[in-house]
Amino acid sequence: MNGSIVLFGPPGAGKGTQASRMSKLTGKPQVSTGDMLRAAVAADTNLGREAKGYMEAGLLVPDEVIIGLISERLQQPDAESGLLLDGYPRTIIQAESLDEIESVSVVVSIEVPDDAIVQRIVGRRMDPETGKIYHIEFNPPPAEIADRVVQRKDDNEETVRSRLLAYHEQTAPLANWYGERGVLLRINGNQGIEEVGDSIESALLELSGKDA
Ligand code: AMP
Repeated sequence: MNGSIVLFGPPGAGKGTQASRMSKLTGKPQVSTGDMLRAAVAADTNLGREAKGYMEAGLLVPDEVIIGLISERLQQPDAESGLLLDGYPRTIIQAESLDEIESVSVVVSIEVPDDAIVQRIVGRRMDPETGKIYHIEFNPPPAEIADRVVQRKDDNEETVRSRLLAYHEQTAPLANWYGERGVLLRINGNQGIEEVGDSIESALLELSGKDA
């Protein structure tokens, strides 16, 4: 499959969790704008200082900041046959700008109702050594690493509500935008991690079969 693949969905839909399996399946490097921004915040770069307040308030970072970041990433040699984009684009302006520089072959929309999102996000934990994501109830970390898993600063209930609001107002309209372009693939994300992964895999294999 040529071009980039976009993983789309509300915060906590499982985009990051599914991205590594999809990256192995497609051979495309996984690029998460959220991870890039968190790394910039941790390193206290100019970008990080600019993004921090927005992220902690559950708001989107301004388009011009994030568009520059992705445009640079798409120029790296490993991006030649496309990237697996997790968390980008998130506004129509970002999608239009991506459209000018990169072909998007499929947008995988992982759909999860709002009431399930809050429960998922508030229990989410990450292993800082491997980057693996767990959930204290649904996918608990193994006992030997339970002490070192951390919670993202923006994974509290209040910030989740702001992130969901930003999603519905600014990001959700992109589903129609991509739907009109015939590249939207809807996946039921309200099931187990393996089942969601299997659904994505079979839908992508079916699509690439049609390409061939
Ligand atoms: P994520 O890890 O994808 O949930 O992103 C965490 C936070 O980073 C978001 O709540 C935004 O503040 C910011 N962010 C990540 N990707 C984007 C994007 N494409 N556009 C604007 N802000 C973003």
